[in-house]
Amino acid sequence: MTSFNCDILIVGGGMVGLSLAYQVLGRGISKNIIVLDKEDKFGVHSSGRNSGVLHAGLYYKPGTLKARVCVDGAKRLREWVEERNLPLNACGKVIVPQRIDLDSQLEVLAERGKSNGATVEFWDEHQLHQCIPEARTASGRALWSPNTAVVKPISVVNSLQSELIEKGVRFLSGCRNWFASPEQCKLTLADGSTISYGHLINSAGLQADRVAHLFGVGLQYTLLPFKGLYWKLKPESPIQPRCNLYPVPDLNVPFLGVHFTPNTEATPTISIGPTATPAWGRENYRGLQAIEPLMAASNLSILARQYLANRGGFRRYVHEQAFLSLPPLLLNAAQQLIPEIKSEYFSLSDKVGIRSQLFNRDGQRLEDDFLCLDGPHSTHVLNAISPAFTASFALADLILDQSSLANNLS
Ligand SMILES: Cc1cc2nc3c(=O)[nH]c(=O)nc-3n(C[C@H](O)[C@H](O)[C@H](O)COP(=O)(O)OP(=O)(O)OC[C@H]3O[C@@H](n4cnc5c(N)ncnc54)[C@H](O)[C@@H]3O)c2cc1C
Repeated sequence: MTSFNCDILIVGGGMVGLSLAYQVLGRGISKNIIVLDKEDKFGVHSSGRNSGVLHAGLYYKPGTLKARVCVDGAKRLREWVEERNLPLNACGKVIVPQRIDLDSQLEVLAERGKSNGATVEFWDEHQLHQCIPEARTASGRALWSPNTAVVKPISVVNSLQSELIEKGVRFLSGCRNWFASPEQCKLTLADGSTISYGHLINSAGLQADRVAHLFGVGLQYTLLPFKGLYWKLKPESPIQPRCNLYPVPDLNVPFLGVHFTPNTEATPTISIGPTATPAWGRENYRGLQAIEPLMAASNLSILARQYLANRGGFRRYVHEQAFLSLPPLLLNAAQQLIPEIKSEYFSLSDKVGIRSQLFNRDGQRLEDDFLCLDGPHSTHVLNAISPAFTASFALADLILDQSSLANNLS
């Protein structure tokens, strides 16, 4: 049994937790930091399982936290990746309307992008075909985002962790069961060891609401998990888009629609996905692993009520996205972007992630923005959904600026 002592205890060593540690050090707030994770290895959840796209900031409503941090965060993370020679594919992204009535949404995205500080350009069909000859635009127009890039998420997480270890941050892994005593600013681990802290930051990703509830914070929020499956184009497929190809998204729901994304290899593998299908457990990546029947039943009833009330256009999500893990529907979605794609061109990828979407029981709505709540000597980062990976450094700054951390350390 050990008695640990730290100024700042970070619960959850994904990209958000690691970036927080990085910024706490970088800003000279404290050197006495512990990052605690329930897993033996870091990056095994969303931060190591995402598409790796550094988003350029087109989607987010000006004024939202996502809009405030995405462009700056993407720029900083890209520079950080480049300085360390980590894999990067600076391939850009093109967004195409899959139906003629979606053309006007390109204007909305372009406007949002410009107000958020992103660079965008309208393309005609000829320009689109110069980039991806087989891509289709229903209206003859497309929106080009030159600054969208792709990284290898797990290499970013591993490098950031190594750097933090070198700088003296302590990591405690495999801490599955711990008990919180918020009034004493203390956690007790399963082996009886204790960690006393000045301020705790909860960045537990898919479990962040459950951790927050232990501190009496955010009791009206619960997380709904959505499974993101990927397929990949086979090397023999005659179609290999060389940049990101996205549909115009439904801006009422938090998912961007199935898209084509090249990875960072010298000859990139192109993934198709991810889907956003209701998951049966927060960490139910495969088969019957980690199924949570009670949670699944409660979430299904929430989703059914959302469907019946059609809140935020939820029916459209169900009709267009909820069942895309079925190969014929996925093929149909992919063919809206590239009509010549055939099912024999792709196979299921072993990559799978789970998106943690926050639901507000009070407002009966899905939360669309990041949420950062203060608790007793603690800060709770809820709903760190996409683009939290892209934005992580800037998001960490925002969290540090807004939290009560400074008061608790002085
Ligand atoms: C399929 C998919 C595709 C995505 N694509 C993109 C993209 O292209 N670009 C982008 O910017 N974002 C993308 N995202 C979103 C991005 O991955 C997340 O926003 C980001 O990784 C969140 O990081 P995090 O640190 O909050 O969570 P995580 O990476 O999940 O880390 C949370 C950590 O907390 C730990 N933990 C949980 N409970 C406890 C506990 N009780 N005690 C101790 N530790 C605990 C977990 O073990 C985990 O290590 C995608 C997400 C998914 C799922």
